[in-house]
Amino acid sequence: MKKSKNHKNNRNNVKGRAPAGVGVRPSKSLGQNFLIDEEVIEAIVDGSGVTEETLVIEIGPGTGALTLPLAERAGRVVAVELDERVIPGLRVKTFSLGNVEIIHEDILKIDLRELIDRELGEYGLKEVRIVGNLPYYITTPIIMKLLEADTGAASITAMMQKEVGDRIAAEPGTKLSGAITYSVHYYADVTSIVSVGRECFYPVPKVDSVVLRMDIRDECPVHPADEDLFFRCIKAGFSQRRKTLLNSLMSLGDYEKTQIADALDRAGIAHERRAESLTMEEFAALADALKEV
Ligand code: SAM
Repeated sequence: MKKSKNHKNNRNNVKGRAPAGVGVRPSKSLGQNFLIDEEVIEAIVDGSGVTEETLVIEIGPGTGALTLPLAERAGRVVAVELDERVIPGLRVKTFSLGNVEIIHEDILKIDLRELIDRELGEYGLKEVRIVGNLPYYITTPIIMKLLEADTGAASITAMMQKEVGDRIAAEPGTKLSGAITYSVHYYADVTSIVSVGRECFYPVPKVDSVVLRMDIRDECPVHPADEDLFFRCIKAGFSQRRKTLLNSLMSLGDYEKTQIADALDRAGIAHERRAESLTMEEFAALADALKEV
């Protein structure tokens, strides 16, 4: 994984006072922390790899901090926003650009595949890239939906809470890794674009952030016989990460302890190892061994 730049906003961001252009009272329940730092915005747009041949799907445009600079660079931007209060203002701001559509929808409910196929068919653009300063309360479900939906997107560039970003960017099989590490690395190659201090948002959140770019792989790094079982093994392994694999895998529920011990032996994995020490290949070998039990 490439190292990212660090960015802190040194200008005044007085807590409780909205900078010009925000215009709505930020909703905590919608995860609204608006980006107010121009350098970070530039780093995200640069890092996302968007060109005039790109259809951008933006998640949660809010008041448009990223939407406008993205639209200036992209062929077209389709932005999906749940908060109806910001929609009219966004449509006014982006109207004259002529290449932006704002959709009032829940990103977790929308049929992305259908949306992307329709847009590509209509506008004849070459590639799709997904970009967003994600609402923190649903970061993981959004990323998993984007990866699992087989949208044909080349990349996902997303701002997220640093703690989640550090897990996602970790190499599988290292101390920082968690179930999400393996899930994301199975589908994508991860690059850190920029670290973002909390002062770069209005209102100021309690945590710092990071922007990651996930380039969707043409081919997954492992080919487990049963993908669903592979992901269930990872989830079970990390469900109680301090327990040994022999014990944590019992939460799969379908196997006796002796069967798990046998599968671990056949996969060449010591019973007392912990999930975070397993490589992607070892999890795949374990799932394959369990499949034969
Ligand atoms: N892009 C803006 C920026 O960078 O200033 C806003 C980012 S803010 C962290 C997250 C945005 O996602 C908010 O505008 C919020 O209303 C929107 N949002 C929250 N939940 C959503 C959902 N389920 N579907 C689509 N948008 C959502």
